[in-house]
Amino acid sequence: MTQATKGTHFLLLAKARTMSLREVFAAGEEAAFSTFCGMRWPENDGKPVCPRCGGLEVFHITTRRKFKCKNAGCYHQFSPTSGTIFASRKMAYVDLLAAILIIVNGAKGVSALQLARDIDCQHKTAFVLAHKLREAMAAEIAGQTVTGTVEVDGAYVGGYVKPANHKENRRDRRLAENQTGKRRVVVIARARNGRTITTVTKSEADGVAFVKAVVAADAVVHADEASHWDALHAKFKTMRINHREAYSKNGACTNMAESFLARLRKMVEGQHHHVSPQHLHQYATHAAWAEDHRREDNGQLCHRALGLALAHPVSRNWKGYWQR
Ligand SMILES: [Zn+2]
Repeated sequence: MTQATKGTHFLLLAKARTMSLREVFAAGEEAAFSTFCGMRWPENDGKPVCPRCGGLEVFHITTRRKFKCKNAGCYHQFSPTSGTIFASRKMAYVDLLAAILIIVNGAKGVSALQLARDIDCQHKTAFVLAHKLREAMAAEIAGQTVTGTVEVDGAYVGGYVKPANHKENRRDRRLAENQTGKRRVVVIARARNGRTITTVTKSEADGVAFVKAVVAADAVVHADEASHWDALHAKFKTMRINHREAYSKNGACTNMAESFLARLRKMVEGQHHHVSPQHLHQYATHAAWAEDHRREDNGQLCHRALGLALAHPVSRNWKGYWQR
């Protein structure tokens, strides 16, 4: 880092649109710490704000990279991750920043095992870290609806069905795997000029209520020929494409929704392998987030993900996950 940029981490500079792990590690712990401060307190130019009382006057405990509130009666000690989803972080700032960069770089998903190897931490640390980041990503679109032209679709994802070795057993084996109750459907509502919203259900038909909830009434909805989508006609202008006839007909097309689900399936089954049903929605959310921001540089993505994490409170789902 040059003298001119010292104090302002490169990640915060508009010109620094791409990032490399080499840069993150070369810039070091102090630079990573100032990045965290910048992203935690953007409204105060990265200068600390006491999370307990809002006080702006603080002592700097530089040796521990912490702050202590000067307000009498408060004296709260805090760091840029206090009260956020990264609270109780044990990892160095530089490693955490590197981990986020690795996660946003992995267009097809990064397994917790690979992440653990890359940043040299325990597998469970990497697993929880990635899931915390996914939870923060989900918050970006929480409560939002999509409108305009919206494609909907659903697909079974995960609950890996082993290819049968013996042809005569194939049907029985696959049926048995399907009956483990581990298979889930990811349902997607994807605006052609907007966001991608996903949910996880037991059947695609259960996705009808989801679509009604997240798609604005004035949207034009595109769906395939599956009969459960018939229920959408009552609420939306709905266009149907029969895939036995064509991929696209009379302007009706669900290719964007389908291609997303195909990529998600590859990501889950190829990279993450055994995704339990209760975590599947987090992978779907992550893939949707990556899809919606695919035109951004990795520096911007890292910046965005870190900003979301530091604006997101302590996770009820992931705090102390391995201590339960
Ligand atoms: Zn305070």
